[in-house]
Amino acid sequence: MEIHSIRMGPLTDCFLVKGDQAVLLVDAGFPRHEKRFHRRLEELGFQPTDIKLIVVTHGHADHVGSLRALKRRTKARVAIHRREGPLIRHGVITVPPAVTAWGRFLSVLFRFLSFLGRFEPVEPEILIDREISLREFGIQGRVIPTPGHTAGSVSVVLRGGEAFVGDLAVNAFPLNMGLGIPAVAENIQEIYASWEKILRAGATMIYPAHGKPFPADRLRDKLVRISYQEDRKSNNPRRERKDNDFKHCP
Ligand SMILES: [Zn+2]
Ligand SMILES: [Zn+2]
Repeated sequence: MEIHSIRMGPLTDCFLVKGDQAVLLVDAGFPRHEKRFHRRLEELGFQPTDIKLIVVTHGHADHVGSLRALKRRTKARVAIHRREGPLIRHGVITVPPAVTAWGRFLSVLFRFLSFLGRFEPVEPEILIDREISLREFGIQGRVIPTPGHTAGSVSVVLRGGEAFVGDLAVNAFPLNMGLGIPAVAENIQEIYASWEKILRAGATMIYPAHGKPFPADRLRDKLVRISYQEDRKSNNPRRERKDNDFKHCP
């Protein structure tokens, strides 16, 4: 399976996945980036109409900004979680609350700059409320609900272990100083549960929308560390987690 990242705004990537029979696009970047997208598509040797499906990881403006323009040109169907369908249908901009001190600053900044994220509304064809297979779209993989950054966030996990996670994990300034949780999120405990979920689903390489791809083991290490710290905080004797709790993971 061929994977290409396309820069669609400052530190924001969307991903093109070429399967045996079709091309899938994950996310559609900031508004007004469609020209850049089509230039890159041409360089890569694809036609816009090769893209049959656009999976939107969540409804934030840096992921759906150019969606309407890309949909118009590609004629692809759009899939998004049912909870976030209304956001793109009505072009609504939302900013999640901060979960870190840095996130408090970012959250205010994003609200202040939200006019830059105004995007054209899009009518999605596919509303996701549970795991779905991408086989009928010619891609060996599935879409998995992975709430946390937003309640309706989803990830695409390919059979080869590549996982496109949107903002479930980030690996770049400004959303994090490095690799880890996004500084703004609706539910941090759900983020950790979703990390476990994609590891169980066979993720081996994580492709965040913000920052460089990294091995999925890095998330597993963080989960072990978080669990250890929580145990220490609650004065529980340290539990032996390393092997037992993650035995289902590759
Ligand atoms: Zn986001
Ligand atoms: Zn984002």
